[in-house]
Amino acid sequence: METYATALLYATPFFLGLVLFEIGYGHFVKNQKHNVMDTVSSLSSGLTNVVKDSLGLGIILVSYPFLLEHLALTEIKATWLVWVIAFVVLDFAGYWNHRLSHHINFFWNQHVIHHSSEEFNLACALRQPVSNLLGYFALLLIPAALLGVPHEVIAVLAPIHLFAQFWYHTQHIGKMGWLEYVIVTPSQHRVHHAINAEYIDKNLGQILCIWDRMFGTFQEELDEVPPQYGVLKPAQTWNPIVINFQHLWRLIQDAWRTNNYWDKFRIWFMPTGWRPSDVKEKYPVQIIEDVYNFRKYKPDASNALKGYSIFQLIVTTAMMLFMFYNYSDIGFDGLLLFGAFVFCGVYGFTTLMDRAKYAVWIEVLRGLAGLLVIFMTNDWFGLHAYWSTGNYFVAFYFVITIFGGIYFTYFEKSYVASKLVS
Ligand SMILES: [Zn+2]
Ligand SMILES: [Zn+2]
Repeated sequence: METYATALLYATPFFLGLVLFEIGYGHFVKNQKHNVMDTVSSLSSGLTNVVKDSLGLGIILVSYPFLLEHLALTEIKATWLVWVIAFVVLDFAGYWNHRLSHHINFFWNQHVIHHSSEEFNLACALRQPVSNLLGYFALLLIPAALLGVPHEVIAVLAPIHLFAQFWYHTQHIGKMGWLEYVIVTPSQHRVHHAINAEYIDKNLGQILCIWDRMFGTFQEELDEVPPQYGVLKPAQTWNPIVINFQHLWRLIQDAWRTNNYWDKFRIWFMPTGWRPSDVKEKYPVQIIEDVYNFRKYKPDASNALKGYSIFQLIVTTAMMLFMFYNYSDIGFDGLLLFGAFVFCGVYGFTTLMDRAKYAVWIEVLRGLAGLLVIFMTNDWFGLHAYWSTGNYFVAFYFVITIFGGIYFTYFEKSYVASKLVS
């Protein structure tokens, strides 16, 4: 996990730099595809994902080394060929995993976050799950295990394969000629994120688009059908942690409420969006019908709140980078506590962005908790060793958090309660 934390230490500024570049480019060509609150929400979703992954939380049901040990028919040496084979089987597994996520109720929960943005830009690529708590992906790597692809090759390729899915989340690149027949391009992936009837659940490939063409899920972007982005049941919140568990919560409620025992069991494995008929009637859920005329989520936001959200995002990102930098010295218990601060931080300031009144409680309590840690340890997770007055700045940040929470909940003039409750 420490190597992963180190990789993230370098990858995070790289991805953030590219997001900033896209924002700058959009501004320059007067075709901005970002809006402040959505982008802050997307980036904070990315923070929660990398913190969760770096801590290795979750239950691994099956691991690749285990499968390799029991299934390998041959052993291929780590020549260039093995990298090519590993890449193709990994991409093949990725296609099916993605297809499973789109089509099965239970699996959709861990993928909905990626589709929850109603914009489409590089930041939306960083909306990645924290609700992927069951590690079953290795099962899809059985072909790799049979061929005896070494674990190290998969371990190196997997993050590269994931990072290589970042660039095509943009509206600034058009169709790419012959490449459209080989790899997933921005045009194809715009289709994937669209909720238009023509486009939904299409283009599930990750790097190669050949799987979509082979298995009938390919759809070209059509000039006469401009993609409309989001999910059919809008998230209605900027809080990425809530979005991660919204669908699961709906499933739990439906399974609990239905009177049909067979439905209680099968709801988890039914196609995404399927609901037992009795609860569907009794507790209807709003679904977007006219994709060209739905109201995007946009609770009232003053410039002050926008600026404050950006400030919170920057400090949280800096804190997380420090956590990765000092990963081995903090120790696992410390990392869990640090991770909790990052999660509560994202939860708190995105709830404030939602204009939910209870945000003030989270902000005041996490502010006090932060001050307490600094007071008790006279340090901030080892920051003192690098920056002797650093903990005063962190303490100051927590004081701002307390007052920010109070100010934006009770005193800001433009406050209008959001009536959009999911
Ligand atoms: Zn998807
Ligand atoms: Zn995507």
